[in-house]
Amino acid sequence: MPHYDLHTHSIYSDGTLTPRALVERARAGGVDVLALTDHDVTDGLAEARTAALAAGIELIPGVEVSVTWGTQTVHVVGLGVAADEPALQAGLQGLRTFREWRAEEIARRLAKQGIPEAYAGARAHAKGSSVGRTHFARFLVDAGHAKDLRQVFKKFLVRGRPGYVPGQWAELSQAVGWIHAAGGQAAIAHPARYTLSATRLRKLLEEFKACGGDGIEVVSGSHSRDDYFRLAHLATQFGLLASAGSDYHGPEQPWIELGRLPALPDGCRPIWQDWPLKLSLTAVSG
Ligand code: AMP
Ligand code: MN
Ligand code: MN
Ligand code: MN
Repeated sequence: MPHYDLHTHSIYSDGTLTPRALVERARAGGVDVLALTDHDVTDGLAEARTAALAAGIELIPGVEVSVTWGTQTVHVVGLGVAADEPALQAGLQGLRTFREWRAEEIARRLAKQGIPEAYAGARAHAKGSSVGRTHFARFLVDAGHAKDLRQVFKKFLVRGRPGYVPGQWAELSQAVGWIHAAGGQAAIAHPARYTLSATRLRKLLEEFKACGGDGIEVVSGSHSRDDYFRLAHLATQFGLLASAGSDYHGPEQPWIELGRLPALPDGCRPIWQDWPLKLSLTAVSG
């Protein structure tokens, strides 16, 4: 059975590895099929594709689209997207424009808390990509405002905290529409990570299904074993396919390593069930 990891990040969003280094690390870890899914951007895919070809692993072109669902930010992973599709690119460009404005707004709010120069600090961590909360978090840790990323998010960057700016991201139906326009499949990322009641989570899946959504991440680097089984059951109930992705952001998160994701629970229909993988074709033809 090939090992799938369908959710990872590079320096083109808030990961710390280049696409090439990510692909090589995935290869070394035993990943056979890797999706690069940077936040609201596909610019790392060309480098990832070239590196995957050289490394002999399958690269699934992906993206993680930011969505606002009510007051909740939800992430939708697009898998197998044609990155040059205009509707997808226009949609992602709009999200990055909001991201830029939000970064300046976060910095203004942090300045009011007596933390100057946060925009420049976060930008330095973003290394040319759109500035996100993780870049602010890294700056704030470096500047001594908290001991690690976890702490700094809790203290400054989540709802109710001084550096939090409410999201104005895509609608759920837009995210699915852009991904489908680009020929991809749409899956709700890490559903167990949102602080949704069981009822709200079912509502989200119901709406996602009504939008034409394809699947949910059942196995995720941010899910517990209990989550896997609960979500596998929900996927089946809602007629959604099951995906698996580490949400790897780099070796600074030593508790998630590429190639270590467990298999999907029995009974799941994998999101890759109908994929015409080059790898499996190679295997068949010898
Ligand atoms: P953004 O899309 O800029 O709002 O940032 C979202 C990203 O922040 C996620 O993809 C994670 O990489 C990171 N993140 C969110 N919450 C936390 C947390 N509590 N601890 C560490 N990283 C987090
Ligand atoms: Mn991230
Ligand atoms: Mn996410
Ligand atoms: Mn992610």
